[in-house]
Amino acid sequence: MIDLVESRPELDNLKSYAPLEENARIVLSANESPFNLSESLVKKIKKELNSFAFNRYPDALASGLRKKLAVAYGVSDENIVLGNGSDELIQCLLLAYGGSGRSILTFEPTFSMYSIVSQVTGTQVYELDRTELFGIDVPRALEVVREFCPTLIFLCNPNNPTGNILSSDEIELFLKETNALVVVDEAYAEFSGQTVIPLLSKFPNLIVLRTFSKAFSLAGIRIGYMVASSGITENALKAKLPYNCDAFSQMVAGLAFNERETFKLQIKKIVSERERIIKELSKINGVTPHSSAANFVLIEIEKEAIWVWKKLLEAGILVRNFNESRLKKYLRVTVGTEEENNLFLKMLKEIVDAR
Ligand code: PMP
Repeated sequence: MIDLVESRPELDNLKSYAPLEENARIVLSANESPFNLSESLVKKIKKELNSFAFNRYPDALASGLRKKLAVAYGVSDENIVLGNGSDELIQCLLLAYGGSGRSILTFEPTFSMYSIVSQVTGTQVYELDRTELFGIDVPRALEVVREFCPTLIFLCNPNNPTGNILSSDEIELFLKETNALVVVDEAYAEFSGQTVIPLLSKFPNLIVLRTFSKAFSLAGIRIGYMVASSGITENALKAKLPYNCDAFSQMVAGLAFNERETFKLQIKKIVSERERIIKELSKINGVTPHSSAANFVLIEIEKEAIWVWKKLLEAGILVRNFNESRLKKYLRVTVGTEEENNLFLKMLKEIVDAR
């Protein structure tokens, strides 16, 4: 028997990502868009495939898509890096700026990848708890920043899984008060209508992360992007693998971005459904919806959230539950189609009433 070499100790406390493999008719657990691409867009994609160079490596910088994004945001190409989902860009940033002797600051609960990739890269994680309603106590946070001097600060805005949003003025305080790189993860920004991309011309320490996975209905092809000053993008490019974004994904995201006006209708529908869900949930005894600027709603469940989660699943509806102690009483539901939302609301009421 060979004694297998052990992994780096940084991996000791980590678990590999295990997606939920529950079979559900209605999936409202991953903050995806409930709308697939339009027929006309799929037709354009198919047309591109007729002359598609499957045999060639993709454009390493995703230059076509990079240019489109740069023009749309009024920045230069050098300010954009494309990633295999924005997850990969979090990894690129930590490979470029994290590691031994470096640290990040997060505001918990928040998106778990910041601390997971930090652990993988041997970067220390400082966690500051969010307030009772999951906001950030900015003065307190700034004190912590001054005391611990983190290398990177992660602000998820709107925050997953709570839906809270910080104002651009509050984010500006972080940018002014510190030399740290301030990463503003705007994965859900299309649903909040708020972005700090205009602050990039003022603050070279700002990094904005965006994705095609949510508002653009493209979670299945993996494309995210970073907008930042050229010194930062240059370092992120050094850390990324050459062909991180495949040619098919670049093509599809480019075609979708050309039609961004048409996605606005879907975004509007999702936002109005979000507000309707919140209103309807507040009429159900024993559940309290949290306000949200994203495409999901965090719900406090008075009686055992896990029991309610199981009952919903038995009814064919998958929502998100949590292991973290602070979120034990909560479920997170992604905004679905009107029909899916109605079914979710009906089943939740029946389940909670029967408890
Ligand atoms: N940031 C946040 C806040 C997210 O919720 C997610 C996906 N759940 C991501 C980044 C990653 O998105 P993707 O890799 O699909 O671009």
